[in-house]
Amino acid sequence: MADSTQQAGRTIHVAGEWRTAVSGATREILDPADGLPFAVVAEGDEKDTDLAVEAARAAFAGGEGTWPRTPAAERATLLRRVAGLLVRDRERLGLLESRDAGKTVEEGRVDIDCVADAFRYFADLVAAEAPGRVVDAGSPDIHSVVVHEPVGVCALITPWNYPLLQASWKIAPALAAGNTFVVKPSEITPLTTIALIELLAEAGLPAGVANLVTGPGPTVGARLAEHPDVDLISFTGGLASGTKVAQAAAVSVKKIALELGGKNPNVVFADACATDDGFDTAVDQALNAAFIHSGQVCSAGSRLIVEESVRDRFVAELALRARKIRLGRGTAEGVECGPMVSAEQRAKTEEYVASALAEGAVLRCGGKRPEPGPDRPESGWFYEPTVLDHCHREMRVVREEVFGPVLTVETFRTEDEAVALANDTEYGLAGAVWTADPGRARRVAGRLRHGTVWINDFHPYLPQAEWGGFGRSGIGRELGPAGLAEYRESKHVYQNLAPKPVRWFAG
Ligand code: NAD
Repeated sequence: MADSTQQAGRTIHVAGEWRTAVSGATREILDPADGLPFAVVAEGDEKDTDLAVEAARAAFAGGEGTWPRTPAAERATLLRRVAGLLVRDRERLGLLESRDAGKTVEEGRVDIDCVADAFRYFADLVAAEAPGRVVDAGSPDIHSVVVHEPVGVCALITPWNYPLLQASWKIAPALAAGNTFVVKPSEITPLTTIALIELLAEAGLPAGVANLVTGPGPTVGARLAEHPDVDLISFTGGLASGTKVAQAAAVSVKKIALELGGKNPNVVFADACATDDGFDTAVDQALNAAFIHSGQVCSAGSRLIVEESVRDRFVAELALRARKIRLGRGTAEGVECGPMVSAEQRAKTEEYVASALAEGAVLRCGGKRPEPGPDRPESGWFYEPTVLDHCHREMRVVREEVFGPVLTVETFRTEDEAVALANDTEYGLAGAVWTADPGRARRVAGRLRHGTVWINDFHPYLPQAEWGGFGRSGIGRELGPAGLAEYRESKHVYQNLAPKPVRWFAG
């Protein structure tokens, strides 16, 4: 982001112009590593939102030569140009993401690579498509074709944990399909999304196609959800806000896509731990599943469901390694895990741990704030990776999404029991099974009610493969062909080449 834009709080982008909020209000963006402000953005509200929707509508309604009418190949070229600019600015953006969201710089850089991948993927997808699907109407006199058209004005609402990545999973397909949009990033992590809007303009996207309003969910987000002139809303965030968005969107029958939370099981069979290498890998990946980005990941493996016979050894090793995770400012040398994103998120985590202990969970490690150090100011929102043993389904910490560095441990004796535990959640975003038995791997994967299932792995995703959840983890899919289809209407064009009367009515 250009420093001048940020300094002046001119972070609302409407019809190609950077502006302050109509009200003049601003918000300080805080560094999670020390709690201190390091940027100022506009605090938009309903008025700014209405202006942004108006601009997106005007850009969508334009005639020949406007974005919705631009050939797919040209849209693809622009998306590829954006990917190139992201690669050029990888270092700057990776650092900004690290500072804003509290992740390590290396995680920030990987996020930017994934953002560029999303732009490339959707560019390739639309560029390779046939312009329409011919339908055989059974007569040489009929030409029938199904074509795709953009939905219209899209409202894109994103969370704080992967700010730019989540935005790119919406912005890239929305643009690829020819839509115009208004994006509302999380009010606490808007900086890289602002930077992306600048890159879209640099790549040559016409003014008014991409609009951005920085501001809170209950004002800007809620207005987008209810706005009669928004055609589609794509929301990534928590279940509570997602439910409100769905209710508001229903009034004007908007198309809706929801990517919500998860309570993701990581199922470990004893046979996966039979060799030293197998054991080492399963423990290492359980650690990564639960604690990367302090567990603030929608697909975090926050429920370890381990076969009873290996539980003690597995949990002891896991706790040993969790204690060694180096916590600190994401930009500091050698740091493996940053702070939590906000004081509120840490307080919520602390409450969940306290409730779990009150309900009988056994603390194996963590459960507190770390001692301050040179790379870990006391004012930063750090929390130690926490392993809670002897957990069961009646505990809130097992049922609800903590979204912090907290891993609960449950055990099973049989395959059926493992599957029942893994599916015993209102969510259904992702889950993993660890086993050395390929037959069992396929059986269990087939029975898991989750949108992504990993076998002997955790966390990887592919832009070509759909991402999304069963149950209350959401509606619709991002990425893959279905992630593009969300942003399209199908239109059947039926042409009669030899019209004649049908004579249904005698007169
Ligand atoms: P959140 O629901 O608090 O906020 C998400 C976004 O919604 C923010 O931009 C916020 O300002 C906005 N918002 C809040 N209230 C709103 C309202 N009433 N109307 C419209 N918009 C509103 O979520 P968060 O704390 O930012 O993010 C964490 C959540 O996101 C977790 O539950 C996590 O699992 C989920 N998430 C899901 C995925 C996925 O792919 N399924 C990916 C990342 C995060």
